[in-house]
Amino acid sequence: MTDNNKMEKVISLSKQRGYVFQSSEIYGGLKSAYDYGPLGVELKRNLMNEWWRSMVHEREDIIGIDASIIMHSKVWEASGHLAGFSDPLVDCLISKERFRADKAPRPRAGDKLSITCIDKGQAKTYLNAIQKRFNIELRRNGKILEGLRVIDNKNFGFFNSAEEKPSATFPYSGYVSPTFGIPFLSEERQFNLMFRSQIGPVDVLGDIAALIDDNKKIGGKVLREGIEKIVKKSAVYLRPETAQAMFVQFQNCQQSMSMKIPFGIAQMGKSFRNEVTVEHFIFRSCEFEQMEMEFFVEPGTQKKWLKYWRDARMRWWKSLANNPDKFRYRAHDKNELAHYADACYDIEYEYPWGFDELEGVASRTDYDLKKHAEYSGSKLSYFDQQKQDPETGKNGWRYTPFVIEPAAGATRGLLVYLLDAYHEEIVPDADGKESSRVVMKLHPKLAPIKAAVLPLVKKEGLPKIARDIVSDFFKAGVNARYDEQHSIGKRYRRHDEAGTPYCVTIDGQTKEDGTVTIRNRDSMKQERIPSGNVIERVREKLALS
Ligand code: ATP
Repeated sequence: MTDNNKMEKVISLSKQRGYVFQSSEIYGGLKSAYDYGPLGVELKRNLMNEWWRSMVHEREDIIGIDASIIMHSKVWEASGHLAGFSDPLVDCLISKERFRADKAPRPRAGDKLSITCIDKGQAKTYLNAIQKRFNIELRRNGKILEGLRVIDNKNFGFFNSAEEKPSATFPYSGYVSPTFGIPFLSEERQFNLMFRSQIGPVDVLGDIAALIDDNKKIGGKVLREGIEKIVKKSAVYLRPETAQAMFVQFQNCQQSMSMKIPFGIAQMGKSFRNEVTVEHFIFRSCEFEQMEMEFFVEPGTQKKWLKYWRDARMRWWKSLANNPDKFRYRAHDKNELAHYADACYDIEYEYPWGFDELEGVASRTDYDLKKHAEYSGSKLSYFDQQKQDPETGKNGWRYTPFVIEPAAGATRGLLVYLLDAYHEEIVPDADGKESSRVVMKLHPKLAPIKAAVLPLVKKEGLPKIARDIVSDFFKAGVNARYDEQHSIGKRYRRHDEAGTPYCVTIDGQTKEDGTVTIRNRDSMKQERIPSGNVIERVREKLALS
């Protein structure tokens, strides 16, 4: 199985088994929006609940909040999102593809720039378009156009075969279009990623119409500024990250729970970004879920805490994975750091397209609290009675805490665990013949269904016994499922694909001696145990009890 292949298989299994569906599929689908199906919703909740448990329920020093998605628009002015939350966007002059410059492939000096089209027809069209616009004739080799090469970080050239010198040179942006590898590109433009809406009983279109009616000759920049003023009055934004609420509610949280520094505020939930490049299934979508925690520390201790959270978060991701080797850290270069951060690590996962971000652990300094204090006029600081003020030497120190932020994607995490769980195996079937199976080796804590209860046949009182066991599972708080459709072999395979760690089978012998078989998803081993012990056995194995 190649890596690309694996991605396609996971996407297809997600649809078939009910993990993830394309949003609004019957209407042709909405770009970059996804629905989590019957298994997906359980998996996502299990993942997020595990995060909540490890961050909030198992620690004394972290409290949680659940803030509104729409906040005062001043929040986004203060945080810098309104002015700066934008991506550098570029258009390919040939294919018209629009993409993010900071994510595009970057061939280096000396590299060939082969343009790879979808088919020969497209290659001919692009060849003609390049000839017409740039006056060079590339060489076509099937669906590939050749002849271009990077000269240095400012120029690329067209080289007639065997010629040492280029017969034409062009300015090089330092990257090429991601889909085709084309270097003929527009200038970069900035684009705000926040979704805007209006709040209150406002008639924005009416006000704009009135503005134009009243100023018949208005146009260009003046018209745009006039419209912006009208829109801004009632504008609200869908939050692009969950983090800001923790800064805005810092004082309320700290005081209501009498928290002492160091302490953290955690939140998980939906965030929205009008992403231009949506890619790799649920890896990057416009609506997604985040799990973020702001950890407030004494100034000067941020290095120690950054390392602490980087390691703690890495351990957590690995603890739920089959392949811990696929996770790694990457320290941000100085020039890559956000303006407010003094250091940052990405926790990366090796996706089928290579290592890429899963979580960022950033040392955000005191930037956010200071900005919100400045914009709101509220005091967002902390008074430590036990410490001396380092400047005055007097007892008691008031300071603005520094912040360490582990910011993870929950839906991106779900993709990671789907990829990690997907296994194809050759195993003996009921008759001892070799057959292949797909099994989702999800960690039992993440598995959507913990136990499936299967009557061997739909008669002879077996369904009743099975349903009673399911009901006992429910009473014990274990998500179990009754399943009587199709042959037992098919049912085992179905639950392998659903990642169900245990199948409990009720057969004729159950009626005679009250025993059932319990089958382990990964080893496929079956054991016979008294039916009265089933719940405890599964709970024990799931480490839930
Ligand atoms: P990227 O560089 O991938 O755009 P980012 O650095 O902008 O991500 P952050 O703002 O640090 O991301 O957000 C924290 C986490 O939220 C990311 O590590 C990622 O897991 C998740 N995330 C961010 N944007 C998206 C998105 N559009 N779709 C899904 N998850 C996302």
